[in-house]
Parts: sequence; C-alpha cells; structure tokens
Amino acid sequence: MQPRFLILGAGITGAALAHRLARNGASVTLVEAGLPASGASGRSFGWVNASFFLSEAHFHLRHAAMAAHRDLAAELKRPWQPEGCIWYQEQGEGFDHTAATLQSMGYPLRLLDRAAITALEPRLADPPDRALFFPGEAARDPAALTEELLAAASAQGAHLLCGLRVTGLTQGDDRITGIRTDAGDIPADHTVLCTGNGTPALLAPLGLSFPMLPRPGALMVTRPLPPLLHHILATPDQEVRQDAEGRLIAPASAHHQADAAETIAAPQALEDATLMRLRHLFPNAFIRPDRLLLADRPVPGDGLPAIGPVLPGLSMAVMHSGATLAPLVADVMALELTGQGSQPPLAPFRPARFFGP
Ligand SMILES: Cc1cc2nc3c(=O)[nH]c(=O)nc-3n(C[C@H](O)[C@H](O)[C@H](O)COP(=O)(O)OP(=O)(O)OC[C@H]3O[C@@H](n4cnc5c(N)ncnc54)[C@H](O)[C@@H]3O)c2cc1C
Repeated sequence: MQPRFLILGAGITGAALAHRLARNGASVTLVEAGLPASGASGRSFGWVNASFFLSEAHFHLRHAAMAAHRDLAAELKRPWQPEGCIWYQEQGEGFDHTAATLQSMGYPLRLLDRAAITALEPRLADPPDRALFFPGEAARDPAALTEELLAAASAQGAHLLCGLRVTGLTQGDDRITGIRTDAGDIPADHTVLCTGNGTPALLAPLGLSFPMLPRPGALMVTRPLPPLLHHILATPDQEVRQDAEGRLIAPASAHHQADAAETIAAPQALEDATLMRLRHLFPNAFIRPDRLLLADRPVPGDGLPAIGPVLPGLSMAVMHSGATLAPLVADVMALELTGQGSQPPLAPFRPARFFGP
C-alpha cells in the first residue's frame, strides 16, 4: 500500500512538497490552518538568489535551488526568464570581497560600471560607480507559485484541507502516527511540518525545543507605475523590484535577508521611510504606497534551514529564503521520504542539530 503523507502548512514549502510527492504518485493530504500562503509566503519579496548565503553549503543549496526553479517552471509550462539583479549593497572592500567570493565559487556575475548601470536602468537616479550583475537571479512571487503548485498537486490527487488548525501530533509506541485537529484526528504514515513559525508549538509537547529567531519583516507594495525598473535592485539601503503589474515591491529593511532586528517600527513609520528611499532612487516617478504587508520571517535559531527527519514518522522543512529554496527542498526531500536514501545536499541542515543526542 502507498504510504500516506500528511503535510502541515500550505505555504510555498508545503505546496512544493505536496506537488512533488503527488507527482511521484504518493498519497498526500495537506492541512492548513488558514488559507494557502497566509504566512510568510504571502508577504515575501520573492528574490530567488544565492548571492546572499551564510555558509558554503548554504550557498550551494541556494545555487542549486535557482536551477530547480528553472526546472519547475518548465514542468509547470511557465517561462523562466530571470531578470537578474543589480547589486551594490556593499561598497569598497565589502564589494571586492563579495565579488571575489562569489566568483571563486563559480557564481555567474558581471562587473558593471556607471555607464553600464545607466544603460540597464536609465531611470535610476545617481547610479553608483560600480555594481555586480547577477544574471541568473529572479523574482518569483511565492504566493502565486503556491497557488500554482497546489492546483497541480490537486490534479495529481493531493487533498487540501484549509481552515483546519493542527493542535497536536498523535503518537504510537515508537512513532508519530498523525495529527490532532478540532475536527478529529487524521492518521498518517509520515507527517511533515512545513509550518514556518508555527513549528515550535507543535514540537514542544513532544519535548523538543525548536528555537526560532524573532525576525519581523515588512514589505511595501506601491500602486502600479509605468515601467521604471527592469531588474531586481539591491542598493546599500533598499532592495526593490517592479512586478508585472507595475507595482514596486520593497522590503522595509535594507539587506532584508540578513536583517537581524528583533523589533520593527510602527507601520506608518516603515511606510514613510521606505517611500522616501524609493523616491530618492526614482525622483521622477509618482510613487504612491498601496499597502504594507507584515509577517514574521521563519528563521531557525542559527539562521539556516532545518530540513529532514525529527522522529520516526515525522519530518520538518522550516526555513527562511523559502522563496528561493522550496522547489529544491521539495525535490530532494521527496526522494528521502520515498525511501531513496539520505540526500547529501541536506546533510548540513538537519533539524537534529537543535535537538541534541
Ligand atoms: C518580508 C519578507 C521578505 C522575504 N523575502 C524573501 C526573499 O526575497 N527571498 C526568499 O527566498 N525568501 C524570502 N522570504 C522568506 C520566505 O518568504 C519564507 O522563507 C517562505 O515563505 C517560507 O515558506 P513556508 O511555506 O516554509 O512558511 P509559511 O509561508 O510561513 O507557511 C507556513 C504555513 O503553515 C501554516 N501553519 C502553521 N501552524 C499551523 C498549524 N498548527 N496547523 C495548520 N497550519 C499551520 C500557516 O498558516 C502557514 O500558512 C521573505 C519573508 C518575508 C516575511
């Protein structure tokens, strides 16, 4: 008989895993407390990149994930045309160090001078003397991708239960046997937590303390504008991109992937400051805010993803940069969950590092 998988959380991670398992013929039920992408996946900048990384293994995981996005797009019959990123977040020695490090690891990049930056982004005021161009980097809205993956998973027979909060995990003699909800228990051969910031509460009753960092995030979305920006732009104090509808999408903190602030300012102050920075970058554009989206970023205690087995019958996949990583994590984790052995790319990111011997 096919093993029954229960995946908890219908953000980008859960949706990608449900899609991959269902596509491989597994029996899959996905349980979500709210609506799909109602967590971090619905409030993400969606920058698919490996230019930000915390370790060499993290870089390689992210770099492989960029290729997984391309492959997934082909599978979903979607175009994959990375717009690339113009990066000058660091200056001076920091810039040289980033360029040399990424080059030494084989990351595709080009050095741009001021004229080349202006040629790529003619509306950008006051371009810097130099920037790096990462041609393989792309923006992909995780909320839209979540919806697409869920539709494809449903077409493969996966069941999606929304509005059903998981209140606990059920245990047999030697393994996790499923979940508890207000609507009753649901049994499973294997349960996977893709529950982002909801994960510690599900693990605590098992005696497992899973640390997550407080990392509040905010994203400003403007009203649509005429074409203004053709690439992802990462300046020292602002990251921004323009989506297909003409809206500027802009995290309210600079270097948002590395941002370690544990608190954030009031929404109005965040919006005003972000708007001021955007107007400084594009003084000739009539930029008006539409909304500010707030979400805690799901960041495990050491900043790195936590992916893999927890207990017999229970695994987890919790990470920041899920917009980048989810398609690869789903591919590799599906191999492990269907008995195809431990996958080396995941070895440095095992949850066991938090749980001790
Ligand atoms: C402002 C911001 C900017 C970001 N920018 C980027 C970026 O540029 N690039 C990048 O790669 N990443 C970025 N990220 C991070 C990325 O968005 C997340 O890593 C990713 O969305 C995590 O997806 P997930 O599916 O693992 O978690 P989530 O999207 O948080 O989904 C978890 C789901 O689990 C559900 N859930 C939780 N507990 C329970 C329960 N008990 N029962 C049932 N359901 C439950 C929740 O309702 C939620 O829908 C950003 C995040 C934020 C907030």
